[in-house]
Amino acid sequence: DAKFYGKNNFKYYSLEIENANNRKMTIINGLHKALENKEFELFYQPKIFTSSKAVAGVEALLRWNHPLHGFISPGEFIPVAEETGMIIPIGEWVLQEACKNYKDWESQGIAPGNLCINISPRQLMDSQLLNKVKSILKEQHFIAQHLEIEITESVAIDNFEDTISKLNQIREFGIKVALDDFGTGYSSLNYLRQFPIDCLKIDRSFINDVMQNCQTAAIVTSIISIAHSLNLPVIAEGVETEEQFNFLYDLNCDYIQGYFISPPVPISNMEEILRKNASP
Ligand code: C2E
Ligand code: MG
Ligand code: MG
Ligand code: MG
Repeated sequence: DAKFYGKNNFKYYSLEIENANNRKMTIINGLHKALENKEFELFYQPKIFTSSKAVAGVEALLRWNHPLHGFISPGEFIPVAEETGMIIPIGEWVLQEACKNYKDWESQGIAPGNLCINISPRQLMDSQLLNKVKSILKEQHFIAQHLEIEITESVAIDNFEDTISKLNQIREFGIKVALDDFGTGYSSLNYLRQFPIDCLKIDRSFINDVMQNCQTAAIVTSIISIAHSLNLPVIAEGVETEEQFNFLYDLNCDYIQGYFISPPVPISNMEEILRKNASP
């Protein structure tokens, strides 16, 4: 029996690997053509001030519509783009496109305070990152102070010294830095103390069960309290319910983002939100 099941499992297992490999090849091949075929689109999700619910900023979130396989989520293709290096040209497109959209909002008088862009580890390791960002901002006449980049905790810990000096340069230029997905990596409070950042973003997984799990509630309470004692504003991502919102409101969490306010939406819907925000 054991042998029988063993064999069978192996068969399923190898089939699974084969399917996963095919899927990965599809993504790798597709990514090379996605930029020139204009298959990418930016969605936007608002971040609001907890106290007033006014829009403080918007985060650009990349969407890929594959001509044969339909929508592929960034959770699936961003890691592949990272691995293959494709994230470098894709990341430049994201920044360029988002800056263009923001300038458009400015000309309509509806631009929010911050435009937030996700930067993955491979991009941060690119020695040309800051130069490329500078030239895109210059070309778009985009004021650096309106840009915020979101980096994940893990990137900040590998190559600690190098990351710190890069982040310092980025911030000296006027760009803000947020630490995304905070709490999921391995950073200690000592790291947190040394990171040159402007905002701490509590990971969605904590917010997800903050009302069900008192340990999680205690952790979220502590993160906000520690961040505030370091003069760091805090944003909670993945806020889906009014209960979660109220809980965070009571803790003086500075900003909120999540389905409770709005999911990521196409640019036309974002403009609608921004227009309402500009003249409530
Ligand atoms: P992230 O930066 O942590 O973005 C938050 C993710 O949570 C987004 O998933 C967003 O759609 C989702 N989300 C927001 N609010 C809620 C909520 O209330 N409930 C739930 N269940 N989910 C919520 P998305 O858009 O699939 O992006 C996944 C990740 O892909 C992002 O995580 C980011 O790390 C990466 N990514 C997305 N766009 C880009 C990009 O342009 N460049 C780079 N380098 N990475 C990107
Ligand atoms: Mg993010
Ligand atoms: Mg995040
Ligand atoms: Mg996250």
